[in-house]
Amino acid sequence: MTDNGVTNISIVTNILKANDCIAAENRKTLEDSGAFAINILGSPGAGKTAFLEACIPYLLKNGLKVGVIFGDITTTNDAKRISVYKVPVVQIMTEAFGGSCHLDAPMIRKAFEKINLDGLDVLFIENVGNLVCPAVFDIGEHGRILVLSVTEGEDKPLKYPVIFQRTDLVIINKVDLLPHLDVDLDLIHKNIKSVNSKCQVLEFSKKENKNLDSVLNWLKKIHNRKI
Ligand code: MG
Ligand code: ZN
Repeated sequence: MTDNGVTNISIVTNILKANDCIAAENRKTLEDSGAFAINILGSPGAGKTAFLEACIPYLLKNGLKVGVIFGDITTTNDAKRISVYKVPVVQIMTEAFGGSCHLDAPMIRKAFEKINLDGLDVLFIENVGNLVCPAVFDIGEHGRILVLSVTEGEDKPLKYPVIFQRTDLVIINKVDLLPHLDVDLDLIHKNIKSVNSKCQVLEFSKKENKNLDSVLNWLKKIHNRKI
């Protein structure tokens, strides 16, 4: 009755609706346990795991109880890197879900069976490295951090505006590499602001470990907003 385009759109809408219902349940489960979740987004190699490696010891030192869920198509490398901090870690390999290039709410629901949320303050969920579909899947998070490496150039916010528009905090990562690159940091800031004037933007490099205090303050704001 309808042409293919319209039919396809309604299928996608239904998938997202079903996802959003489970996402709302996930959010409720987290809140009942006193935890809040942060969805970590970014391209492959942007430094999502490296950012967590810097953040987690800092947050632990400041009295926060942290857990992490990792989404990858294959491999448990990221989970191994974080397990040295003795925090609860769960790895979702999306290979089991057909090699999905994003996390969805049902996958997180399943991961909750393997992680004790009671007593956690913040649950980081590192999404699959991808700037496209993770943007539209609510997984039950309370806030989103997008990690963008300076090595990706200045135009990513303009090419992938949706994910930037649906992000609360952008971490411009690897700023220590700037002297070696022909990249304009001011233009990166300007392009982010041009698609999302409200999000907070922080510069970061694992080498200098700067701005972790601002990340902590941002997390506290998300926590308060939740309550
Ligand atoms: Mg990673
Ligand atoms: Zn995808």
